[in-house]
Amino acid sequence: MERSYVIKPELGKTYPQVSHGKGIYLYDVAGKRYIDGCSGAVTASIGHGIEEIAEAMREQALKVSFAYRSHFSSEAVEELGAKLASWAPGELNWSFFVNSGSEATETAQKIAIQYWQEKGRPTKTRMVSRWMSYHGITMGALSMSGHVLRRKRFVPLLADYPTISPPYPYRRPDGMSLEQYASHCANELETAILRVGPDQLAAFIAEPVIGASGGAVVPPDGYFQRIREICDKYDVLFIADEVMTGVGRTGEKFGMDHWGVKPDLMTLGKGMSAGYTPMAATMATDAIIDTITRGSGLIMAGHTYSANPQSAAVSLAVLRYVEAHHLVERAAVQGAYLLKKLQELAEEIPLIGEARGLGLLCGLEFVKEKKTREPFPLSKGVANQVIAKAFENGLLVYPATGGLEGIAGDSIIISPPLTITTEEIDELVELLKKTVMQVQ
Ligand code: PLP
Repeated sequence: MERSYVIKPELGKTYPQVSHGKGIYLYDVAGKRYIDGCSGAVTASIGHGIEEIAEAMREQALKVSFAYRSHFSSEAVEELGAKLASWAPGELNWSFFVNSGSEATETAQKIAIQYWQEKGRPTKTRMVSRWMSYHGITMGALSMSGHVLRRKRFVPLLADYPTISPPYPYRRPDGMSLEQYASHCANELETAILRVGPDQLAAFIAEPVIGASGGAVVPPDGYFQRIREICDKYDVLFIADEVMTGVGRTGEKFGMDHWGVKPDLMTLGKGMSAGYTPMAATMATDAIIDTITRGSGLIMAGHTYSANPQSAAVSLAVLRYVEAHHLVERAAVQGAYLLKKLQELAEEIPLIGEARGLGLLCGLEFVKEKKTREPFPLSKGVANQVIAKAFENGLLVYPATGGLEGIAGDSIIISPPLTITTEEIDELVELLKKTVMQVQ
């Protein structure tokens, strides 16, 4: 084709056209093969070209693809809701279906505000979040996100919400144990709540493992348990953003399961439909939904495509596939192997400051000086150089540099499909090693 009229991520750059995918591999129309080392945007978590999903898609399309949620429910939607309720921790039994992680975050924000209104506490409208975080690209979601690169053009339009520090073990103060650090960071939430006033605050939102703005930053044990206690103490809802970590990615069904912490609201996206269709959800507890049911009886959120039968059938087929192939357990085992290999790489290559991760959500942080952990200036674009070189070499990895100049380093995410075999991990790491050596 001579000329493109499609707005691409980088205007003026030519992107190869994808032809097809199978398992962990994608192929472009010129026949070049790529290892999908990041499942696209940590999304294609059951791999490409799965026949069962195509079959479920066709079956539902022949029945009905779209029926508006104000008119009908459907078997697919009901079964998906029931499946998620059986998977989710605690009383998180209710699903509000949307189409992207950003919509899920906005819906959680709205449900939290509405919950307090229905409880007769209408001043509780603000959110607390962490300055190293990403919760979505729309204005409400961006207001809660610390991702500087994605925020900076729109700051005047964003809500002025308080933020706290996330635990970032690699860069914790010297001499502080992980245990001390966990409560040190969690206690910042209490300080923020007291400073702003609990009567102003509806909810606190956090990713179980920091993704796009940090590169698989795993919190120390005890952190989220303490966060839960603080939220309970001050009547602040806890929203777990599981858009990236949910549905098995970290080796448990949901990231919070690692610490046995039960959120009040939970967002899902990405792996929930594994890239086979746009689908996301905000899950809420019985207590929240009972309150709203007894009050106005109507959640003021939703989109045209919310809860459409077609996407629900696809997502249900994905969750069944994850169960049938034990992909949650597999993510834990293969993730441990991948992390070990990445840590070996980090030992060997000076450019890699740290290899970290949980399950099959792994990250590498690049540093100028390994010993001091000094980050590169972001203008040098080291992570972007690695990503570009990897692409040339036939390997896809995901950017995770949040634009926090001088505070955080350049990072990438390595998060292949949960179906990846040990041999395929070896192949991925070999290619990654070659790539990083070419950049350094
Ligand atoms: N929340 C988290 C943790 C994410 O990683 C993302 C996307 O990367 C989002 C929300 C936004 O999801 P989407 O891009 O589907 O709107």
